[in-house]
Amino acid sequence: IPALSIENLSKSYDNGFEALKGISLEVKQGDFFALLGPNGAGKSTTIGVLCSLVAKTAGKVAVFGIDIDDDFPAAKKCIGIVPQEFNFNHFEKVLDIVINQAGFYGLPAGIARQRAEKYLRELGLWDKRDVSARMLSGGMKRRLMIARALVHEPKLLILDEPTAGVDIEMRRSMWDFLKKINAAGTTIILTTHYLEEAEALCRNIAIINHGKIVENTSVRSLLKRL
Ligand code: ADP
Ligand code: ADP
Repeated sequence: IPALSIENLSKSYDNGFEALKGISLEVKQGDFFALLGPNGAGKSTTIGVLCSLVAKTAGKVAVFGIDIDDDFPAAKKCIGIVPQEFNFNHFEKVLDIVINQAGFYGLPAGIARQRAEKYLRELGLWDKRDVSARMLSGGMKRRLMIARALVHEPKLLILDEPTAGVDIEMRRSMWDFLKKINAAGTTIILTTHYLEEAEALCRNIAIINHGKIVENTSVRSLLKRL
């Protein structure tokens, strides 16, 4: 079963704009997959459909064989999503943000606490656990978003432009972290508009432009042709 399967997905917004014009994609389990495209191509819309923030107009989406229309809660358990916006409560403490997220997934308090500690440590945020999230730098907020998305240990991690606005040094340490969790078995999909990021991290790539997939291949064979 693929980690993610998208068939003929389309999305027209209320104003009639067709952001996705029937895209199809398959991401295998264990893959590190890039959805690459310029601003406005439809990347965030695709992610929005996956976390049901955006209602699709047509098409089928399945996560590990679970159709999101059949059983969204079950599908959601398999996915961790890191959207572009910092959508945590900025007045909450770092540790509480991660622990509360675990609560949404029904994890017992002891496990929630253990996992929160594990991921905050791995992401270099443990020293900040008692700090209000609004005090964090942009790079730290991004890492907090990642820790929060991982606390229920999803089989598929989806990141929307994970290193946008992150400086080069920080980008490299985030890349290393993502490589490590992919090597440990988590399937990763990220959107990016940097080919360099896809090249550094990903095995397979789909290029989206104007709501259509214009290329779907391995990163290696794409680079050979450029
Ligand atoms: P990307 O993430 O690749 O930059 P998006 O998925 O955010 O692209 O946007 C795709 C297109 O859909 C853009 O042209 C954008 O302006 C448009 N769009 C996004 N959200 C809405 C909305 N709520 N209503 C109308 N158009 C939208
Ligand atoms: P910025 O102020 O540029 O946003 P951050 O506040 O995000 O930078 O980074 C603060 C410090 O945390 C940096 O010195 C960085 O090297 C360190 N750091 C970043 N990522 C990790 C990580 N995954 N593990 C451990 N430390 C990290």
